[in-house]
Amino acid sequence: MIREEGLDAIWDGRYYSGSDLVRCASAGCSGCSACCHFTSDTIILDPLDVMRLEKASGSSFLELLEADRIQLSVTDGLILPHIRMKETPSGGEGGCPWLTEEGRCGIHAYRPDLCRLFPLGRVWNEDGTFRYILQKDACVRPGKSKVEVNKWLGLTTKEKVEDDRIFHERWHGLLVKMRRKMALLETDQQRSALSLYLLRNFYERRWIADEARFYRQFSIRCNQAGDGLEGV
Ligand code: SF4
Ligand code: SF4
Repeated sequence: MIREEGLDAIWDGRYYSGSDLVRCASAGCSGCSACCHFTSDTIILDPLDVMRLEKASGSSFLELLEADRIQLSVTDGLILPHIRMKETPSGGEGGCPWLTEEGRCGIHAYRPDLCRLFPLGRVWNEDGTFRYILQKDACVRPGKSKVEVNKWLGLTTKEKVEDDRIFHERWHGLLVKMRRKMALLETDQQRSALSLYLLRNFYERRWIADEARFYRQFSIRCNQAGDGLEGV
C-alpha cells in the first residue's frame, strides 16, 4: 500500500488503470535483487499473500512466524504480518529470506502482492476503489520498456483482473472498517480482541491452496467479518 501523503516525493505524477501502459519493465532483473533488501517491515502481507506463501513453502502461517520468515507489527492500529528480512552476522538487516544465493526470488510465482507490483504501487480513492502509480526511480535498473499494468501483475484474463480487483477492494474495505471500529473501542482488551480476530480468521486459519477456491473462501470470511462490523 502506498500512502497518499508523501506521494509527491515518489511518483511520476500519473495515475494508471490496469489497461494502461507504464514504463516499468526491466528486461529481467538478472540477479540485481536491490528491492529485496532493506525493506524493513514494509512488505505487508494480505491473506492471498499468506495463502501463496503457505503453498510455496509447505508451511503454515504459524510455522512461517516461528521460522522467522514473517513477523507481526502494528500498522495503523492493526496487527498485520510482513516479510521479515534476514539478519546479517553483525546484526544488521539483510535480504529477504526467500532470496536465493544467485540473487533471485525463490518463490517468484508465489511472491507477495507488493513484490508483484514493484515498482508500481496501489493508491486508494475515497470510494474504496484504487488506481496504480509508478514509483519513480524505485527500480535501480535503467532502460525500462512499457508494459500493460495488468500484464505486469500477471492478470492475463478478464476473470483474473476481476478476482484481483474484488479481492483487493474487499480487503482494503475490511481494514478501513476494522480501523474505524478500533478507534471506537474503549479498552486495550477490546482492541486486542479485534486485532486477534483479524489475525485468527484471515491469517492463522488455513486457506484452501487454490486461487479460485481461495476467492470464494475469502468472500465468505469477509461477509462474516463485515456482519460483525455493520454500522461502523
Ligand atoms: S530493483 Fe528493479 S532490477 Fe533490481 S531486482 Fe528490483 S525490480 Fe529487478
Ligand atoms: S518474496 Fe521474492 S520478490 Fe519479494 S522481497 Fe522476497 S525475494 Fe524479493
